[in-house]
Amino acid sequence: MTANDEWLQRYSDSMLGVFGTPPLVHSHGEGCYVWDVDGRRYLDLVGGIAVNALGHGHPALVSAVSKQAGEALHVSNLFTSPGQILLAERLLQVSAAPAGSRVFFANSGTEAIEAAIKLARRTGRTGIVAAEHAFHGRTTGALALTHKAAYREPFEPLLPGVTHVPYDDPDALRLAVDSGTSAVVLEPVQGEAGVIEPAVEFLREAREITRAAGALLIIDEIQTGIGRTGEWFGFQHAGIVPDAITVAKGLGGGVPTGALITFGPEVSALLTAGQHGTTFGGNPLAAAAGLAVLGAIEDEGLLAHARTMGEHLAAQVAQAAVPHVTGVRGQGLLRAITLDSPISVAVASVARAAGFIINPVAPQVIRLAPPLVIQAEQLDSFVAALPQIVQEATA
Ligand SMILES: *Cc1c(COP(=O)(O)O)cnc(C)c1O
Repeated sequence: MTANDEWLQRYSDSMLGVFGTPPLVHSHGEGCYVWDVDGRRYLDLVGGIAVNALGHGHPALVSAVSKQAGEALHVSNLFTSPGQILLAERLLQVSAAPAGSRVFFANSGTEAIEAAIKLARRTGRTGIVAAEHAFHGRTTGALALTHKAAYREPFEPLLPGVTHVPYDDPDALRLAVDSGTSAVVLEPVQGEAGVIEPAVEFLREAREITRAAGALLIIDEIQTGIGRTGEWFGFQHAGIVPDAITVAKGLGGGVPTGALITFGPEVSALLTAGQHGTTFGGNPLAAAAGLAVLGAIEDEGLLAHARTMGEHLAAQVAQAAVPHVTGVRGQGLLRAITLDSPISVAVASVARAAGFIINPVAPQVIRLAPPLVIQAEQLDSFVAALPQIVQEATA
């Protein structure tokens, strides 16, 4: 029995079964590589699902977190810290938020969505419109916005007032939004649905529709934010100004964190003293991590790098003309390789045995969300191995 299998047996005997049994027990990582407990190395093309923006062991992140651990891990929200304030200021800058915008720190994506739902409630309206196939999280408020029946239905009744309309369909959105709508919540690219990119006009139309109806436009940037798509945030590709965005995953580079950013003074005044809170949100450790991640993205030019690498990957895969591979979609380093049949799980499993971590996000879709620091040669090594991987997976 390998060390991996022994640990997995103990996992099954101790962990609640909500994730099934994972295939690998990770030991450590370095850059874009991770090792399992048997010493096997893998190229990590998933990056902890768009979390490890700087890969593993990035010197700036390691030193910021280590230094902060020695100074103060936590001070509670009875107090604040310079790091928390600096990170809020940086987030307002990179989101190009107008004067009067504000930040609320949470600890995860779903908590950022919960804050957004409470923000929306403060409009005095109760309707929320989300998109079909949307993923917004697993806590009961966010779950009501998440579309997948298998996630939602065992826990109904959930928050009332939520309707789902087809994604990338401005006419359906226009019909669904009315004077009872507090907010429209949308992902700029639907990650969990399989990296579905809407027409660039869709977010612009959503902006017009919500403005006309007096509803908030809340953009869920939890997966798309922090440089993932080649801009700081996905909405920036459409050139709109939303009313609020939610951020998490990449922000801490692996340290749990999240944020709600409210745009402009009116929206930022909706939640007042005492109306929301958190014990851990924005604590000094998470703030130090966030500052290190944003700093490294800027210092290393990782927005442009994400765009270049994403295009490189798409071009290389196209050129390889791999049987059963129908294309590459997505933006920056949030990408999907599409397949002509439901073989993604088999492909991911063979890829793992060959030393590549990829994510079978849907039966015919492989999601890639590698660290933003990934290099062309690393992507090329995967593309070079892909024909053999797909062949074995379909044999
Ligand atoms: C991951 C994700 C969430 C939930 O974040 P958690 O940190 O897992 O709670 C919400 N929305 C989107 C778009 C996500 O990708």
